[in-house]
Amino acid sequence: MSLDSESTLVFHTMEEIDQTYARLTKTFQSGATRPLEYRRRQLLQLARMIQDNHTAFEDALIADLNKPRVETTVSEVSHLVTAVLYAVANFEEWALPQPCETKEAWRSSWGATLYKEPKGVVLIISPWNYPLVLTINPLIGAIAAGCPAVLKPSELVPTFTQLLADLFPRYLDPDAYAVVKGGVPETTHALDLRWDHIFYTGNSRVGRIVATAAGKHLTPVTLELGGKSPAVIADDCDFDIAARRVLYGKIQNAGQLCVAPDYALVLRDKVDAFVESLRKAHDEFWPEGDHPLTGSVPISNIVNPRHHARLVDLLNRTKGKVVLGGEIHKDKSISPTILTGVPEDDVLMDEENFAPFLPIVAVDDMDHAMRIVNSKHIPLVIYLFTNQEELKDKFLERTRSGQLVLNDTIMQLVVHEMPFGGQGESGYGMWFGKTTFDVFTHFRGVINVPTAHEPFFQSRYRPYTQDKYEW
Ligand code: NAD
Repeated sequence: MSLDSESTLVFHTMEEIDQTYARLTKTFQSGATRPLEYRRRQLLQLARMIQDNHTAFEDALIADLNKPRVETTVSEVSHLVTAVLYAVANFEEWALPQPCETKEAWRSSWGATLYKEPKGVVLIISPWNYPLVLTINPLIGAIAAGCPAVLKPSELVPTFTQLLADLFPRYLDPDAYAVVKGGVPETTHALDLRWDHIFYTGNSRVGRIVATAAGKHLTPVTLELGGKSPAVIADDCDFDIAARRVLYGKIQNAGQLCVAPDYALVLRDKVDAFVESLRKAHDEFWPEGDHPLTGSVPISNIVNPRHHARLVDLLNRTKGKVVLGGEIHKDKSISPTILTGVPEDDVLMDEENFAPFLPIVAVDDMDHAMRIVNSKHIPLVIYLFTNQEELKDKFLERTRSGQLVLNDTIMQLVVHEMPFGGQGESGYGMWFGKTTFDVFTHFRGVINVPTAHEPFFQSRYRPYTQDKYEW
């Protein structure tokens, strides 16, 4: 084992990673993870693990990110317990063979059916920002589908990763589910192995590395990436409600959330009114005597000093004007920061900010807003605040994004039944609920052609003599 210089996390060696891979492959080949009863037991154990260790997970995320307990409870723990129980209630139905309707009556007797087969041994690589939900949620689908899985959580959340590694063998079958602790070299080594699916969540630079490595083995990949998700504020919406909802989405985990509104597009003559509403919302969230950085429940930390320095640099270089917040707690956190007068080509409009910053770009009209959205990579989500049917339709028809959410932020994450995923630079492949089961499932087509049909087939056999085709 080697010791990472930046944390106390003891990484697995390459030999240990190989051994884990070999053990899980053997388990898959034995068929042990296939029976539905086995899958159900493992899913229930997973739910038990999360519930029993609710406080330990909260403590770990306080140690790694200073994430407020209530945010861990709502967006990670409760979300996961609901997701596991949803899978437990439904996975047997998802796993049922699916008959295929055939048009011609004579072919119906062939019994064309899609069988739901586990793909095999899968690798799940997750990031630091929502480490519990982004590591365990894909695992729910893998277990439900009958696949053994190796999880590789982020080295940037060492307390969480160690906790998960300790808990796994106490709750789950160690021959089928394992946590690998590692940084870039260990992940690179793991990516050299032949997996049956790789599920990666993180940034698009590493997404390319993962897709390239998977390509060597023709391994299918799901890429859940990020991007610049805009909040578009039309003039007909209720500004106080829109501002409260945008600010809520922006401050979760200090803006380090893949579906956080990255920037806002507001009509030029409404910017002041919208800022006023944001100010009101801010004062509601942190009333007199409370403060985002020093209050009793401060905003989450920026994950590490390197990311903190990146954000301070952005604040120094932006041409926008800070109209709210902008306070910096050295190396740790930054208060929610609203900026106006941000040009379209500003540094804050370049990459995904992943920060508690809300740059506001003034637009002439909604067509101008659409042009800005369309000039960038396809975002994971567009948040549009309006009640105008025509405008909703325009955005649906003339923009592209992973999802389009009307009049709120983040709430698409609680709709387990709606597949979630990006497009282009924000990723590819969908998941959530049954779709995650589908990710790890091979739909194996089976037909049985009756020997009694042999007389109908004479014309397909050689020799191709004319008399066979005289119908
Ligand atoms: P990160 O730095 O923790 O990296 C993610 C994973 O990739 C980690 O497990 C890490 O060990 C591994 N990794 C890093 N460099 C690697 C390399 N060179 N080779 C192989 N593996 C490597 O997290 P991050 O990428 O900073 O995460 C934040 C990003 O993730 C943001 O862009 C965010 O929008 C995106 N994200 C997307 C979703 C989604 O569902 N679409 C969810 C959360 C986060």
